[in-house]
Amino acid sequence: MATYSAGDIKGNYMIKEKCRFCSKEIKFELHANFTVYCPFCFKHHRSECEYGFGPVTPFYFSVGKLLIAKIYEDNSNTCFLESPYFEKKALRGVYLDAVSESDKIMDIMIIQNKEKILKDLKL
Ligand SMILES: [Zn+2]
Repeated sequence: MATYSAGDIKGNYMIKEKCRFCSKEIKFELHANFTVYCPFCFKHHRSECEYGFGPVTPFYFSVGKLLIAKIYEDNSNTCFLESPYFEKKALRGVYLDAVSESDKIMDIMIIQNKEKILKDLKL
């Protein structure tokens, strides 16, 4: 299972933006590779990735500032999607394919776990 718990995030590069769907203010952590969902409407607000410039892992998924999943690569170049909300998944693809594979899993997972995530967000 996950080696971190929900909400385990340092807050060193926290920024604020208005959600592009519901216009509510979202606070989230900037990473080299990340996707952030809005904690209010749960839509996909923004993604950034160093594709073409550097490694794409670790890749973080968060709902606002709540970290909900991470993609990482092991020593044998296998990518994994790890989350406190579901069993760790070995991904079929590597590099950008691992990210798009995870995007699809997360779009479903975020809806399935909405109640738990809302509880962990403590809005
Ligand atoms: Zn929103």
